[in-house]
Amino acid sequence: MKVFLPLVLAITLFSCQQKLLKKDPKDVVVGIQPYGKIPQNILDTVQSTLHDMYGFKIVVLPAKELPKSAFINIKSPRYRADSILDMQERWKPDSLDYLMGLSEYDISMTDRDENGNIKKPEYKYKDWGVFGLGSCPGETCVVSIFRLRKKKNYIDRLRKIVVHELGHNLGLDHCDVGPKCVMRDANENIKNIDKEELALCENCNKLLYGN
Ligand SMILES: [Zn+2]
Ligand SMILES: [Zn+2]
Repeated sequence: MKVFLPLVLAITLFSCQQKLLKKDPKDVVVGIQPYGKIPQNILDTVQSTLHDMYGFKIVVLPAKELPKSAFINIKSPRYRADSILDMQERWKPDSLDYLMGLSEYDISMTDRDENGNIKKPEYKYKDWGVFGLGSCPGETCVVSIFRLRKKKNYIDRLRKIVVHELGHNLGLDHCDVGPKCVMRDANENIKNIDKEELALCENCNKLLYGN
Protein backbone atom coordinates (compact mmCIF):
# COMPACT_ATOMS: atom_id res chain seq x y z
CA MET A 1 0.00 0.00 0.00
CA LYS A 2 2.86 2.34 0.88
CA VAL A 3 4.24 1.83 -2.60
CA PHE A 4 1.04 2.92 -4.25
CA LEU A 5 0.24 5.89 -2.05
CA PRO A 6 2.56 8.48 -3.62
CA LEU A 7 1.34 7.55 -7.08
CA VAL A 8 -2.31 7.77 -6.08
CA LEU A 9 -1.64 11.08 -4.38
CA ALA A 10 0.17 12.41 -7.43
CA ILE A 11 -2.68 11.42 -9.72
CA THR A 12 -5.23 12.99 -7.39
CA LEU A 13 -3.29 16.24 -7.24
CA PHE A 14 -2.91 16.25 -11.00
CA SER A 15 -6.63 15.71 -11.60
CA CYS A 16 -7.51 18.45 -9.06
CA GLN A 17 -5.50 20.98 -10.99
CA GLN A 18 -7.03 20.07 -14.33
CA LYS A 19 -10.17 21.88 -15.25
CA LEU A 20 -11.58 22.53 -18.66
CA LEU A 21 -12.59 26.13 -17.99
CA LYS A 22 -9.38 28.11 -17.60
CA LYS A 23 -10.96 31.58 -17.29
CA ASP A 24 -13.15 33.11 -14.63
CA PRO A 25 -16.73 32.53 -15.94
CA LYS A 26 -17.56 36.23 -15.69
CA ASP A 27 -14.71 37.02 -18.09
CA VAL A 28 -15.95 34.61 -20.78
CA VAL A 29 -17.88 36.22 -23.66
CA VAL A 30 -20.14 34.19 -25.96
CA GLY A 31 -21.65 35.61 -29.15
CA ILE A 32 -25.01 34.41 -30.47
CA GLN A 33 -25.17 34.75 -34.26
CA PRO A 34 -28.77 34.51 -35.56
CA TYR A 35 -29.17 33.13 -39.10
CA GLY A 36 -32.45 34.18 -40.69
CA LYS A 37 -35.40 35.28 -38.58
CA ILE A 38 -35.11 34.12 -35.01
CA PRO A 39 -37.97 35.50 -32.85
CA GLN A 40 -36.85 37.96 -30.16
CA ASN A 41 -38.29 35.83 -27.34
CA ILE A 42 -36.14 32.90 -28.52
CA LEU A 43 -33.00 35.04 -28.59
CA ASP A 44 -33.82 36.29 -25.08
CA THR A 45 -34.37 32.72 -23.86
CA VAL A 46 -31.08 31.43 -25.28
CA GLN A 47 -29.20 34.43 -23.89
CA SER A 48 -30.60 34.10 -20.36
CA THR A 49 -30.32 30.29 -20.32
CA LEU A 50 -26.61 30.32 -21.21
CA HIS A 51 -25.90 33.15 -18.79
CA ASP A 52 -27.74 31.46 -15.91
CA MET A 53 -26.10 28.09 -16.58
CA TYR A 54 -22.48 29.13 -17.07
CA GLY A 55 -22.25 32.69 -15.70
CA PHE A 56 -20.78 33.91 -19.02
CA LYS A 57 -21.52 37.24 -20.69
CA ILE A 58 -23.77 36.53 -23.69
CA VAL A 59 -24.06 39.04 -26.54
CA VAL A 60 -26.52 38.78 -29.44
CA LEU A 61 -25.04 39.82 -32.80
CA PRO A 62 -27.02 41.33 -35.72
CA ALA A 63 -28.79 38.62 -37.78
CA LYS A 64 -27.31 37.52 -41.09
CA GLU A 65 -28.06 34.97 -43.79
CA LEU A 66 -26.13 31.75 -44.28
CA PRO A 67 -24.02 31.69 -47.45
CA LYS A 68 -25.08 29.59 -50.43
CA SER A 69 -21.81 27.65 -50.14
CA ALA A 70 -23.20 25.87 -47.05
CA PHE A 71 -26.49 25.00 -48.77
CA ILE A 72 -27.28 21.45 -49.81
CA ASN A 73 -30.41 19.75 -51.11
CA ILE A 74 -30.03 15.97 -51.02
CA LYS A 75 -33.07 14.96 -48.99
CA SER A 76 -34.48 18.42 -48.32
CA PRO A 77 -33.14 22.02 -48.27
CA ARG A 78 -30.52 22.26 -45.54
CA TYR A 79 -27.33 24.01 -44.57
CA ARG A 80 -24.28 21.95 -43.67
CA ALA A 81 -23.51 22.34 -39.98
CA ASP A 82 -19.84 21.40 -40.50
CA SER A 83 -19.46 24.18 -43.12
CA ILE A 84 -21.13 26.63 -40.72
CA LEU A 85 -18.62 25.74 -37.98
CA ASP A 86 -15.72 26.29 -40.42
CA MET A 87 -17.09 29.69 -41.39
CA GLN A 88 -17.75 30.71 -37.81
CA GLU A 89 -14.17 29.89 -36.88
CA ARG A 90 -13.05 32.38 -39.51
CA TRP A 91 -15.68 34.97 -38.58
CA LYS A 92 -15.27 34.88 -34.80
CA PRO A 93 -13.79 38.17 -33.59
CA ASP A 94 -11.07 37.98 -30.93
CA SER A 95 -13.41 39.79 -28.51
CA LEU A 96 -15.49 36.60 -28.30
CA ASP A 97 -14.37 33.39 -26.60
CA TYR A 98 -17.11 31.33 -28.24
CA LEU A 99 -19.54 31.82 -31.11
CA MET A 100 -22.90 30.05 -31.30
CA GLY A 101 -24.91 30.14 -34.52
CA LEU A 102 -28.68 30.00 -34.09
CA SER A 103 -30.39 29.05 -37.35
CA GLU A 104 -34.01 29.21 -38.44
CA TYR A 105 -33.03 26.83 -41.25
CA ASP A 106 -32.56 23.08 -41.10
CA ILE A 107 -28.93 21.96 -40.60
CA SER A 108 -27.19 18.66 -41.32
CA MET A 109 -23.92 16.79 -41.17
CA THR A 110 -22.42 13.49 -42.32
CA ASP A 111 -22.57 11.00 -39.46
CA ARG A 112 -19.50 8.75 -39.33
CA ASP A 113 -18.46 5.76 -37.25
CA GLU A 114 -15.31 5.62 -35.12
CA ASN A 115 -13.24 4.66 -38.20
CA GLY A 116 -14.36 7.73 -40.12
CA ASN A 117 -16.63 5.82 -42.51
CA ILE A 118 -20.14 7.05 -43.21
CA LYS A 119 -22.59 5.12 -41.05
CA LYS A 120 -24.84 2.62 -42.78
CA PRO A 121 -27.25 3.00 -44.47
CA GLU A 122 -25.25 5.66 -46.26
CA TYR A 123 -28.26 7.42 -47.87
CA LYS A 124 -29.56 8.09 -44.37
CA TYR A 125 -26.36 9.32 -42.74
CA LYS A 126 -24.68 11.12 -45.64
CA ASP A 127 -26.80 14.19 -45.00
CA TRP A 128 -28.15 13.66 -41.50
CA GLY A 129 -30.39 16.39 -40.08
CA VAL A 130 -29.35 17.56 -36.62
CA PHE A 131 -30.56 19.94 -33.91
CA GLY A 132 -27.07 21.16 -33.10
CA LEU A 133 -23.36 20.60 -33.62
CA GLY A 134 -20.38 21.82 -31.62
CA SER A 135 -16.66 21.13 -31.84
CA CYS A 136 -15.23 19.51 -28.71
CA PRO A 137 -13.26 21.30 -27.51
CA GLY A 138 -13.65 24.26 -29.80
CA GLU A 139 -14.82 27.81 -30.17
CA THR A 140 -17.98 27.51 -32.23
CA CYS A 141 -21.22 25.59 -32.35
CA VAL A 142 -24.52 25.87 -34.19
CA VAL A 143 -28.10 25.10 -33.16
CA SER A 144 -31.17 25.04 -35.40
CA ILE A 145 -34.73 25.76 -34.30
CA PHE A 146 -36.14 24.37 -37.58
CA ARG A 147 -37.08 20.90 -36.31
CA LEU A 148 -37.67 21.92 -32.71
CA ARG A 149 -40.29 24.59 -33.26
CA LYS A 150 -42.71 22.18 -34.92
CA LYS A 151 -42.65 19.80 -31.99
CA LYS A 152 -43.75 19.83 -28.35
CA ASN A 153 -41.53 21.01 -25.49
CA TYR A 154 -39.92 23.43 -27.96
CA ILE A 155 -38.47 25.90 -25.46
CA ASP A 156 -37.39 23.27 -22.89
CA ARG A 157 -35.58 21.27 -25.56
CA LEU A 158 -33.94 24.33 -27.10
CA ARG A 159 -32.59 25.43 -23.71
CA LYS A 160 -31.03 22.01 -23.11
CA ILE A 161 -29.55 21.84 -26.62
CA VAL A 162 -27.81 25.24 -26.41
CA VAL A 163 -26.35 24.34 -23.00
CA HIS A 164 -25.24 20.94 -24.42
CA GLU A 165 -23.55 22.34 -27.55
CA LEU A 166 -21.71 25.06 -25.64
CA GLY A 167 -20.69 22.32 -23.19
CA HIS A 168 -18.99 20.52 -26.10
CA ASN A 169 -17.08 23.72 -26.97
CA LEU A 170 -15.94 23.91 -23.36
CA GLY A 171 -14.49 20.42 -23.75
CA LEU A 172 -17.25 18.28 -22.23
CA ASP A 173 -17.75 15.04 -24.13
CA HIS A 174 -20.96 13.01 -23.99
CA CYS A 175 -21.67 12.01 -20.40
CA ASP A 176 -22.61 8.53 -19.27
CA VAL A 177 -22.22 9.25 -15.55
CA GLY A 178 -25.16 11.45 -14.56
CA PRO A 179 -28.45 9.74 -15.53
CA LYS A 180 -30.14 13.11 -16.18
CA CYS A 181 -27.07 15.11 -17.19
CA VAL A 182 -27.63 17.63 -19.99
CA MET A 183 -24.44 16.32 -21.66
CA ARG A 184 -25.89 12.86 -22.31
CA ASP A 185 -26.00 11.72 -25.94
CA ALA A 186 -29.53 12.07 -27.32
CA ASN A 187 -28.85 8.91 -29.38
CA GLU A 188 -30.75 10.12 -32.42
CA ASN A 189 -33.97 10.50 -30.45
CA ILE A 190 -35.22 13.95 -29.44
CA LYS A 191 -37.40 12.37 -26.73
CA ASN A 192 -34.25 11.43 -24.82
CA ILE A 193 -33.67 15.14 -24.25
CA ASP A 194 -36.90 15.26 -22.24
CA LYS A 195 -35.38 12.82 -19.73
CA GLU A 196 -32.49 15.20 -19.04
CA GLU A 197 -32.43 18.05 -16.57
CA LEU A 198 -31.21 21.50 -17.49
CA ALA A 199 -28.05 20.91 -15.44
CA LEU A 200 -24.59 19.39 -15.55
CA CYS A 201 -24.08 16.34 -13.35
CA GLU A 202 -21.55 16.45 -10.49
CA ASN A 203 -18.94 14.74 -12.67
CA CYS A 204 -19.27 17.22 -15.56
CA ASN A 205 -19.23 20.12 -13.09
CA LYS A 206 -15.93 18.81 -11.68
CA LEU A 207 -14.45 18.42 -15.14
CA LEU A 208 -15.43 21.96 -16.03
CA TYR A 209 -14.65 23.88 -12.87
CA GLY A 210 -12.26 21.56 -11.02
CA ASN A 211 -12.83 20.55 -7.42
ZN1 LIG B 1 -23.57 16.11 -28.13
ZN1 LIG C 1 -22.51 14.70 -16.85
